[in-house]
Amino acid sequence: MQTIDNFNFKDKKALIRVDYNVPLDDHYQITDTNRIDATLPTIRKIITDGGSVVLMSHLGRPKGGSEEKFSLKHLVSYLSGKLNLPVKFADDCIGKAAVEMAAGLKPGEVLLLENLRFYKEEEKGDPEFAKKLAALGDIYVNDAFGTAHRAHASTAVIAKFFPNAKYFGYVMAEEVAQLKKVLTEAKHPFTAILGGAKVSGKIEIINHLMDKVDNLIIGGGMMFTFIKAMGGEVGASLVEEDLLELAKNTVEGAKIMGVNLYLPSDAIIADAFSNDANFKTCNAYDIPDPWMGLDIGPASCQKFDHVIQKSATILWNGPMGVFEMKKFEDGTRIIAESVAKATENGAYSLIGGGDSVAAIHKYRLEDKVSYVSTGGGAMLEFIEGKELPGVKAIED
Ligand code: AMP
Repeated sequence: MQTIDNFNFKDKKALIRVDYNVPLDDHYQITDTNRIDATLPTIRKIITDGGSVVLMSHLGRPKGGSEEKFSLKHLVSYLSGKLNLPVKFADDCIGKAAVEMAAGLKPGEVLLLENLRFYKEEEKGDPEFAKKLAALGDIYVNDAFGTAHRAHASTAVIAKFFPNAKYFGYVMAEEVAQLKKVLTEAKHPFTAILGGAKVSGKIEIINHLMDKVDNLIIGGGMMFTFIKAMGGEVGASLVEEDLLELAKNTVEGAKIMGVNLYLPSDAIIADAFSNDANFKTCNAYDIPDPWMGLDIGPASCQKFDHVIQKSATILWNGPMGVFEMKKFEDGTRIIAESVAKATENGAYSLIGGGDSVAAIHKYRLEDKVSYVSTGGGAMLEFIEGKELPGVKAIED
């Protein structure tokens, strides 16, 4: 893999695409610095080599044109403190000032450019815009895995201006290596645990994993489409009627492929979608109207835990229930604890996709699993088997 470790940046100017799309409060204070912190080793390696750094990122969803609340200048003091040097700021990502400031950088200096998405050309993948950005550095480094599934000017198109001078930063390299490890080198038994709201968001993942896993555990809202497809009564639970046939085919397909597909046998049902609702445990195949299933039940937790404990590789995406509500969080918490325990006993575990990452943080288990992918959409597309433009642009 072409990582920055393959290169000495002495007297070179590295143009690094980072993902500094961090949340800011009303006073423009950063409320979660993880994405910035993650990139520090990449920046430090380059300046320690004796190179200089130009950082470029997007922040939020500006409508096109500059907006104070999406300005990257709000990150300058935090970044300066972390790097222990005065980070310079160009209030436009292209144009005369950016060119002059980038050209004037001395070894060891860092320049942050203003939000790339103040130009519509960024998301359009405009080659002229990419060319203007490319003029700001000698070497291109992509360290923004979170946007690797987008073919934007700064994430993919720009790479063609650096045919022999493009590298993965450490964040990107680690994400790609961990995801490749789970998809191509998994030790068996390999168990995938899928949850979350809808089958429609997960069907491509299920299809892509089918010839890789030994066990497929399905929980979350999506389980009810499967249970109904198998002839169960699911009351007012979330069901995608148009996917019943597909769910049935998936169950049949799993049998043919020799994959053990585990659906919950019991559920926690509620008489309303609310933490104040009445709730009880019920057979997942016999839920009376107007009750709805909002979590997997204790027997299912026990069964799933048993499968997880026997696994050598575990991939988890999507919560088992509405874990944001206290009454319906047990399934997700118990499965998170089970994955942590299996990891302690030697299994490799990868957690990814927005809500399962939120869950693992909620139960403070992030250090007890092997890897937590921060990739969101990029991670999901990777496990769907899609080629990510940001990765391909470096590898080509
Ligand atoms: P996703 O983004 O598809 O991974 O879905 C995550 C969301 O699914 C979370 O906000 C959960 O509250 C929700 N969810 C999990 N289980 C259920 C359920 N049984 N019914 C409705 N929503 C659910």
